[in-house]
Amino acid sequence: MRTTIIAGNWKMNTTVSEAMALVKAMRNKLEAINGVEKVLCPPFVSLTAVRELILNSSLKLGAQNMHFEEKGAYTGEVSPLMLAGLCQYVVLGHSERRQYFGESDEIVNKKVQAALKVGLKPIICVGEKLEEREKGLMEEVITRQVKGALASVPSLERVVVAYEPIWAIGTGRAATGEQANDTISIIRHEMGRLYGAAQADMVPIQYGGSVTGANVAEFLCQKEIDGALVGGASLKADEFIAIVEQTAAVKGKK
Ligand code: PEP
Repeated sequence: MRTTIIAGNWKMNTTVSEAMALVKAMRNKLEAINGVEKVLCPPFVSLTAVRELILNSSLKLGAQNMHFEEKGAYTGEVSPLMLAGLCQYVVLGHSERRQYFGESDEIVNKKVQAALKVGLKPIICVGEKLEEREKGLMEEVITRQVKGALASVPSLERVVVAYEPIWAIGTGRAATGEQANDTISIIRHEMGRLYGAAQADMVPIQYGGSVTGANVAEFLCQKEIDGALVGGASLKADEFIAIVEQTAAVKGKK
């Protein structure tokens, strides 16, 4: 049995007071939904405020990125040790980090190792560009990213993966449930090759890319899909609640 995880990646949105208002608008309804791990990933500056608001609830907190060094002269960066006392999850290797901040598979790997070392659960994002899919390179790109992110990682314990095809992120053009399931099977197969099927079978793998309350069931009813990493829709309280509700309903039937 794998954990079903719905995580909201707020990206670079919300001031601290907006973040607090958003949590207050969702907190009680999310808390009432069972069987789904609910993770909020606000900007760094709101982590403490959000943490206070979800203390004593089942809601979990995640950061959207971090540096791989524990401390030092890295002006403006946030370290794994700083996050370890605050959150349970950290999103790593998001395609926006890879695209706009030059994060390579090697950097993502250093971050994954650093997160695991301090007890954080990394949500490792992988995904292909549209032209890569069209050229038939999807499998090669995905397996390279998975292998790269996990290099020297001793076990898959605490690892979460998010399959996010870049062409589906923020575009309103989601993958189909079948497309996402097929690619996630490739990811699980690659992890099985590296760590054995027993470990690979335990890793929650999310789909991300234009997920809404209206389409989440299409993904969650698939055999290999264990949740969603939600961008835009996680900034709307009613929509995020609907996504978690739909997920719980589908999971109940799975
Ligand atoms: C994301 O940022 O991880 C994401 C999937 O965004 P959206 O849901 O807006 O496509």
